[in-house]
Amino acid sequence: MNPLDALQKYFGYSNFRHSQEAIIQHVLNKQDVMVLMPTGGGKSLCYQLPAVLLNGLTVVISPLIALMKDQVDSLNLSGIPAAFLNSSQSPEEQKDIAIHLKNNELRLLYIAPERLFGKDDRLIVFLKTLPVVQIAIDEAHCISQWGHDFRPEYLMLAGLKKEFPGVPVIALTATADKLTQKDILEKLNLQKPAVFISSFNRENITYRVNPKKNSFNQLINFLEERKDDSGIIYCLSRKSTESLAENLKEEGFSAEAYHAGLTNETKAKNQEAFLRDEVKIMVATIAFGMGINKSNVRYVVHVDLPKNIEGYYQETGRAGRDGLPSDALLLYSPGDAMKLKGFAQVENNPEQSAIMMKKLDDMVNYCQLHACRRQYLMQYFDENFPDNCGSCDFCLSEFVKFDGTLIAQKALSAVARVKERFGVTYIVDFLRGSRSEKIWGEHKLLKTYGAGADISKADWQRYLRELIAMGYLRLSDDAYASLKLTLKSDAVLKGLEKVELISSQTTDEKEAAPLDF
Ligand code: ADP
Repeated sequence: MNPLDALQKYFGYSNFRHSQEAIIQHVLNKQDVMVLMPTGGGKSLCYQLPAVLLNGLTVVISPLIALMKDQVDSLNLSGIPAAFLNSSQSPEEQKDIAIHLKNNELRLLYIAPERLFGKDDRLIVFLKTLPVVQIAIDEAHCISQWGHDFRPEYLMLAGLKKEFPGVPVIALTATADKLTQKDILEKLNLQKPAVFISSFNRENITYRVNPKKNSFNQLINFLEERKDDSGIIYCLSRKSTESLAENLKEEGFSAEAYHAGLTNETKAKNQEAFLRDEVKIMVATIAFGMGINKSNVRYVVHVDLPKNIEGYYQETGRAGRDGLPSDALLLYSPGDAMKLKGFAQVENNPEQSAIMMKKLDDMVNYCQLHACRRQYLMQYFDENFPDNCGSCDFCLSEFVKFDGTLIAQKALSAVARVKERFGVTYIVDFLRGSRSEKIWGEHKLLKTYGAGADISKADWQRYLRELIAMGYLRLSDDAYASLKLTLKSDAVLKGLEKVELISSQTTDEKEAAPLDF
């Protein structure tokens, strides 16, 4: 059977999405593959379809024990024999599955990583006696310390390629910046992997950031307009999920809490009620959501600042999986950023602390952005997105553009004069002619020193952010976040390209997030 026929027969779909077809072809050709696709993009099909076509067993490694049953049930309903092995099963059940495996009656077996390389290697030894034809590693970013959801047990998966030489490995994730991508490939030991990166743009989600003033009232206003809709509200602490859920209930909303400290029973009950639309609002920590396949989540609210863009984007991505218009709202306060800075320090690990700080800075910059949010997000994931999106809070507010070529030239030239060694704050001080010892001492003779003294600090900061968002400048990938020129800078410096900037006189000014750094 060819892949398209199998797609129709087993899954009931008539077309492949994104690069599903090419990915599947690679697996069928026994090549290793890494797949980066946004939540809801259709990753599961990339290994489930080869599992149907290949004559043998596909082993799926997933951290989400709670969801294995759902996936296996839905495969079995589609006529694809599948099972899972995890600690929730009785020895009899496990034995039963082993018999099915021995008889080559299963196409897919879901297991948790700690099970595979657990206390003894019995399962590995057993699996090696079976015709394993594909290994899928779901949520592959869990292997990376740079990812936002590191799970030490994933590190054990490094041994897979050795244990199963010649078996194609397909690593899948909805979230991986460049560093994490590299880490996944290295740690899993993938051989000449093909890497497929789908567009991460979620067109149907409108991104908004509002300054956090009185978050409960802000929430109530937001929710009043969405009384019949399902949504997720993310909080930083377990305690606040419970108190917020209670407060919302008192206001007449249908809400429950979810966090890792609740009993398994309560978690399962609340999750089930949310999935069935019996409860409209899930107030949760980030423990909630990975792998949750609920298509009609209409909004995701962050009442506290997320630690990094990857996490934020994945969480907001849980809205609108059905493609219908959905909202992502973040309530930002600089105080939250200060609080998280404390958490970003990893004891005895300066390298990791620096990376976490940089990621937090990127998150803060997003909140303080005075430019298209989608453009910033896409750029963060190295995706080219040249135009304003028209559907984030910035694009939806009315703003006035002006010819900012001269301002851009001053900024770019300042960055060049100080040899691309300094960050936003320093460049602004330099342009404004600060008398600080370092700037005065080192740079007072440089041509652009003080060339922008007529522009306020806040405006300069905003212009620099806009220039970054438009790709005329970029921030270095290391912890220093120094401003660097880009391929696009040259044309501006030579006067070959005009740059439009946004005037500070936007009609939406009062609602814009505070611009402190
Ligand atoms: P991900 O794991 O990337 O978050 P899923 O694999 O859960 O996404 O897929 C999301 C939804 O899209 C599922 O309901 C799935 O059945 C559906 N889907 C996947 N591939 C296709 C396709 N080619 N055509 C239509 N729907 C698809």
